[in-house]
Amino acid sequence: MRLPITTLLALAAFGLAACGGHAPEGATVLHAARLYTAPDAPPMDDAAILFVDGKIAAAGPAKDVEARGAATIGVCDGGVVLAGFQNSHVHFTEPKFAGAQARPAPELAAAMTAMLSRWGYTTVVDTASDLANTVALRARVEAGALPGPRILTAGGALYPKDGIPIYLRDLPPEVLASLAQPATVEEALEHVQANLDGGADATKLFLMTPQGNGRYSFMQPDIALAAADETHRRGLLVLAHPTDVEGINLAIEAGVDVLVHTTIGEGKTVWDPPLIEQMLSKNMALVPTLKLFPYELKRAGLEQRIVDLATGDAVEQLRAYSNAGGAVLFGTDVGYMSDYDPTEEYRLMARALSPMQILSSLTTAPALRWKEEGRRGRIEPGKDADLVVLDADPAKDVANFAKVRCTIRGGKTTFEKPAS
Ligand SMILES: [Zn+2]
Repeated sequence: MRLPITTLLALAAFGLAACGGHAPEGATVLHAARLYTAPDAPPMDDAAILFVDGKIAAAGPAKDVEARGAATIGVCDGGVVLAGFQNSHVHFTEPKFAGAQARPAPELAAAMTAMLSRWGYTTVVDTASDLANTVALRARVEAGALPGPRILTAGGALYPKDGIPIYLRDLPPEVLASLAQPATVEEALEHVQANLDGGADATKLFLMTPQGNGRYSFMQPDIALAAADETHRRGLLVLAHPTDVEGINLAIEAGVDVLVHTTIGEGKTVWDPPLIEQMLSKNMALVPTLKLFPYELKRAGLEQRIVDLATGDAVEQLRAYSNAGGAVLFGTDVGYMSDYDPTEEYRLMARALSPMQILSSLTTAPALRWKEEGRRGRIEPGKDADLVVLDADPAKDVANFAKVRCTIRGGKTTFEKPAS
């Protein structure tokens, strides 16, 4: 078939537009050797992502993205690109974050980079801290004074009456005195309301806390329930630290949304099907924090065999919950744990999950849990330009999730690996 010359010219012009059309004003283009737009979509090689005004404008095969005239971020090009990661368990309680309102920005920036941006996190959930300090830190990040992730915070947690966990007893006396240990429903509500009014995005409950010598404190069920109900009434999430299966039972009773650890208590270490069924019926999400256990148990001087057994139990809990269809959210408890490198967390998770399930725990699952799937979690037009560039493909080795070349939040680079 012979086409008229005008049709050929029109096709050529169309092709030119598709291959090398002009990018919108102020756009940036990122080239990817491989692009994962989402855990449930096949990867794409030789791709490009175009973003403008903090939002993704286009993502697809490089030849189809109209990027002429767009800015580039040289050092970030050519890696494996994924949606920005969420770490669903962090704390801003180390001294380097103290006095956040007045502390020199470069000091806070260095702390933020080392703990978070350097590992690809564009959103973090602070699961307990000094609310006023975290809110001040967040305000400075949002004002552009220092680069950092978006911060969702639970602010000040609630503890059982006379139930500060033994591992927090070394905190300064004035900090210990500030921790909420409500004795009544009224006291609990007062704290929850003040915390949420003060800028917290969630309520954190310590439901069962170790007191030493095999003793535990428990939050009264009516207090936990009242705190959870008040939080849910405002459309917000309830996070809980369970310690052991008895703590999970309290969480189920209260309607907790996110368990921030698996369990290695002295009781049952296996989560049996009826327990998992009840957790699922409350639509609970799980943050495994697997690396925390070897870290803590080794520090406590336990022999390697015991450490391996306890860690293996936590891996099995993760496997059982994920296989049953439970939501899993990646989280490491950094800030409490001073070793920030998540490589071991990825390796331990990979004993129970596939690389794409881990990617889901970093991106789509937390976006859904925080009811923000409309704005983040996937790389597609209209979503926030929250991106991670890795040096190598995590589907080949999950340790590559930690080999971060660049972190981009809302179109702005929050971390660039220094040239080696
Ligand atoms: Zn924690």
